Parts: sequence; C-alpha cells; structure tokens
Amino acid sequence: MERKLTCIICPLGCSLTVQLEGKKAVNVTGNGCSRGKAYAESECTDPRRTVTSTVLCADGSLVSVKTDKPIPKEKIAECMALINKTVATLPVSIGDVLIEDVFGSRLVATQNKR
Ligand code: SF4
Repeated sequence: MERKLTCIICPLGCSLTVQLEGKKAVNVTGNGCSRGKAYAESECTDPRRTVTSTVLCADGSLVSVKTDKPIPKEKIAECMALINKTVATLPVSIGDVLIEDVFGSRLVATQNKR
C-alpha cells in the first residue's frame, strides 16, 4: 500500500510517498532531508502534534503556551479541554510549566506576562 503525505516539519512542505506494509513504513521517497523520513514513519505509526494555544490568566488576559513535546494526535481534544480549564497565576515567564503532564508532555508558557 502507498500513502501520500505532505511533510510539516519545515516550510518547504515536501511531498512524501510512503510504501507501507501494514502500518509500518518500509520506504519513504520525496523527502528533502532525513527529518521528512522520520516524520513519515511516525505519521504512519504514531501521529503526534505539538499543541499551541493560550491559557487564561488570573487578570483576564491570555498567555501563549505550547506542549514541550508532540502529543498523540488523538489526544489533542482532551489536551485542549485541560488547557481551557487552566488559569495561570501571574507573573508568568517563558518556559514556566503551567501543566506538568499533558499526555507525556508539559504545557509551557511561550511569552512573559506581568
Ligand atoms: S523533508 Fe525535510 S526539507 Fe522536506 S519539508 Fe520535511 S523537513 Fe523540510
């Protein structure tokens, strides 16, 4: 079986063709670098995404956040539900951990907020 993907690792967006045996990628073509091969293999077996969003602060403003590692794609809705229930206490600095464990990742602030 063959699967076509667009690599999302960098802005070049290479068109990847993946030869599959079951869910396993046995050959990847079209990738401009080795990161595209790794992405294609992961996407076919355990698709993951880094989640970026905002968290409400105690003063009513928002602070931008992201997971520090990609999480399983099927957990994104649950991750967003957790994020939407979170209220950050100010001040917040870049890198502060706002949620310690979100499906194997940590939710960290990506901006300073006083
Ligand atoms: S394969 Fe490499 S060069 Fe192509 S989009 Fe992915 S990361 Fe960028």
